[in-house]
Amino acid sequence: MAKVLVVGGAGYVGSAAARYFEDHGHEVWILDDLSTGHLSFVQDRERWFEADCGDLDVVEPFLKSQRFDGVFHFAAKSLVAESVAHPELYRESNVHKMERLLEACARAGISRFIFSSTCAVYGDPGDAPITEKTPFKPMSPYGETKRDAEALLEKFVARGISSIALRYFNASGAESKYRVGELHEPESHLIPNVIRAALGARPVSVFGDDYPTSDGTCVRDYIHVSDLAEAHWLAFEKLLGAEAPFFDAVNLGSGTGYSVREIVTAIEKAIGGSIETVICPRRPGDPPKLVADTSYARAFLGFQPKRGLDTIVRSALAWEHQRLQPKRAVFLDRDGTINQDPGYLNDHEALVLLPRVIDALKKLRNAGYLFFVVSNQSGIGRGRITRDQIRRIHGRLDQMLQDEGLRIESYALCFHHPDEKCECRKPEPKLILDLARRYGISLADSAMVGDKLSDVDAGLNAGCGTVALLLSGNDSNDQLIQIGDRKDVPVFKDLDDWATAQVRFESSP
Ligand SMILES: [Zn+2]
Repeated sequence: MAKVLVVGGAGYVGSAAARYFEDHGHEVWILDDLSTGHLSFVQDRERWFEADCGDLDVVEPFLKSQRFDGVFHFAAKSLVAESVAHPELYRESNVHKMERLLEACARAGISRFIFSSTCAVYGDPGDAPITEKTPFKPMSPYGETKRDAEALLEKFVARGISSIALRYFNASGAESKYRVGELHEPESHLIPNVIRAALGARPVSVFGDDYPTSDGTCVRDYIHVSDLAEAHWLAFEKLLGAEAPFFDAVNLGSGTGYSVREIVTAIEKAIGGSIETVICPRRPGDPPKLVADTSYARAFLGFQPKRGLDTIVRSALAWEHQRLQPKRAVFLDRDGTINQDPGYLNDHEALVLLPRVIDALKKLRNAGYLFFVVSNQSGIGRGRITRDQIRRIHGRLDQMLQDEGLRIESYALCFHHPDEKCECRKPEPKLILDLARRYGISLADSAMVGDKLSDVDAGLNAGCGTVALLLSGNDSNDQLIQIGDRKDVPVFKDLDDWATAQVRFESSP
């Protein structure tokens, strides 16, 4: 068994890899800043560290305290169009942060590093399959940052770090248990977009049908995310067996190319219906054909993908169905609802759960509810709390709940000052609506509960079927005065008082 850190483990490929490593008996920790990842993808909150991987002051002590056998780096920005619009943002995120992460690894004595790179480093290589010797000609700032990040790995060999850069072709599909899957916002990848369009009976945009390919649409090499995960572990085993520090790079693809039209046809077959396509202009930076030469992956790693296009499409479809299957949720305010409200809670050691909160959450979980925290954290806007303190508080809460077999799927927070005009501060419904869309929550079957009238009104504005005002907060008298003679605000003593009534109501004939 190895103990490893997965940086970016709340994202698409990173979370699938983390699950794969865990399933094979390894101790897996996840570090992610949740800028594009999802807390709901982090299953074990005891081995979870929310941080920016480029924050040396935070990451170095963490690495020193944990003594990992190796680090897998999946945390990068990966939207080509965004990289064209914001090249400096991409340089900071994908190159400078990685350099600081490598520095932290070197100082902590970590000598093994697996890096998610990309075939975008090669640019447009023409018709032939791409080998690791194909010259670098990145066509986007994104591809340039990956090239430069690989150069950093070569540099850190002298500091004792062995590394392998894995140049992915198109990661796709979902892991077999559907615990995690593709969930980008915005979604820029073909397969999920075709599936979503088909499920929503909308046409699919095809960007260019005049490329020099068999049917005029772009040809790409799709590799299943669980095959990618296996390849990462095989690469890590190479590092475990290294006698001296080295750097190497390996293409990860299937060796087979499929055109956009062929993908659409495969999804039509899986869905059993036809999908309308609309031809749009070519996108800048899209080469006609990108297909991997897989011989080095086979020779060096002993890696051969096991899952073909059928499995990719079927698993992606199953994941999307599951994601959109209507679920019910309780949206919870935090301070005064779950924990005591000291005004501005800024010390995770001072987090104290309110009485019977665990009992209440267990009843609701057994009734099939997911939990989300929806919280106004204006202390950030007022400069009285830092984001790092908020992370620690949520880490502490996650641990307290995990001990009881409970978990918060995700935290949705407004950080704005109350005087700022923002769209997310309760009673605005935006935070709830965003969660509902992302997680397939049926709002009519869901509830918003909190100790402030603004919580209740956010729930009503979002269309929650149930709302409740709890008198467990600091200024319950004031809230009761504000309610006046409103009839749409059910009042309960505390979370357990409401949960008991709610569950009893639902189970009554
Ligand atoms: Zn806000």
